[in-house]
Amino acid sequence: MAAEVRERVASEVRDFAAAHDGRVPGLATVLVGEDPASHVYVANKRKQSEEVGMRSIHHGLDASTPEGELLPLIGELNADDEVDGILVQLPLPDQIDQDAVIAAIDPGKDVDGLTAGSAGLLAQGRPGLVPCTPQGVMELLRHAGVEVQGADAVIVGRSILVGRPLASLLLNASATVTVCHSRTRDLGVVCRRADVLVAAVGSPRLVQGDWIKPGAAVIDVGVNRTEQGLVGDVDFEAAKEVAGAITPVPGGVGPMTIAMLLQNTMRAAKTRLGQTASLPLSYD
Ligand code: NAP
Repeated sequence: MAAEVRERVASEVRDFAAAHDGRVPGLATVLVGEDPASHVYVANKRKQSEEVGMRSIHHGLDASTPEGELLPLIGELNADDEVDGILVQLPLPDQIDQDAVIAAIDPGKDVDGLTAGSAGLLAQGRPGLVPCTPQGVMELLRHAGVEVQGADAVIVGRSILVGRPLASLLLNASATVTVCHSRTRDLGVVCRRADVLVAAVGSPRLVQGDWIKPGAAVIDVGVNRTEQGLVGDVDFEAAKEVAGAITPVPGGVGPMTIAMLLQNTMRAAKTRLGQTASLPLSYD
């Protein structure tokens, strides 16, 4: 599925360049510090944006970079006409206020969909840039033919990156949505009533096989590094015996997240250059 999205975006990039004297969409990535996982994520985002024909502009900053240096860089990227999307890889080092950095990003270039403006548009069911991981989850459900309208959807996790925007997307698609978190009582009982169950926690194999309603669609967003390698938040071996459909880790949500970033960058470029009047509705 991710490969299909990349091919479609590559074709849109070619059309865009033809319509704009060879100018291609530009994606700026900003990485502060040496976190190995963040380095891998950013390298993949850069590589894949170049593979679809976009221009990748990268800023790798020292872990000790003060906020007073990062904010002017965001301002420069906002003002740079060749930059259509800005991605600041999270988490940021402690001396930098993450909220202040996100708030500094031009809403039209907010391809991670994390600004309060993008989140507000999504919560109101209005067109805007939607965070990549939850958008990828919706695409996976759509592609698998899962009926979301009227379904009982349970999300475990309430982060601004995954759980909260996904709750809005599922609600906009007319599911009945429950959002669980670390204080939820009887998590297994709540999960067991889900037709669509999404785990976005960061706790290896938290979701057990007997927490899953037979036939449910299970989406595992979690990425946990363990001695046995990368595992998700769902006990995959047990869950796959009960679920109607289930995503693996690695290879499920991760590739879709990057594909959605490319799609968002393409949409931002088209909107910025006036090729499309507005962004599509989040639940189109
Ligand atoms: P996060 O900000 O740490 O949020 C985790 C959420 O899980 C919080 O809402 C927390 O509840 C909840 N939680 C923690 N322990 C719990 C428990 N025992 N029972 C129920 N809920 C619990 O994490 P995130 O950024 O959303 O990421 C979640 C996972 O997805 C991580 O493994 C991350 O690596 C992965 N991820 C993958 C991709 C991808 O592309 N594949 C993208 C983004 C994230 P409280 O709010 O009460 O603390």
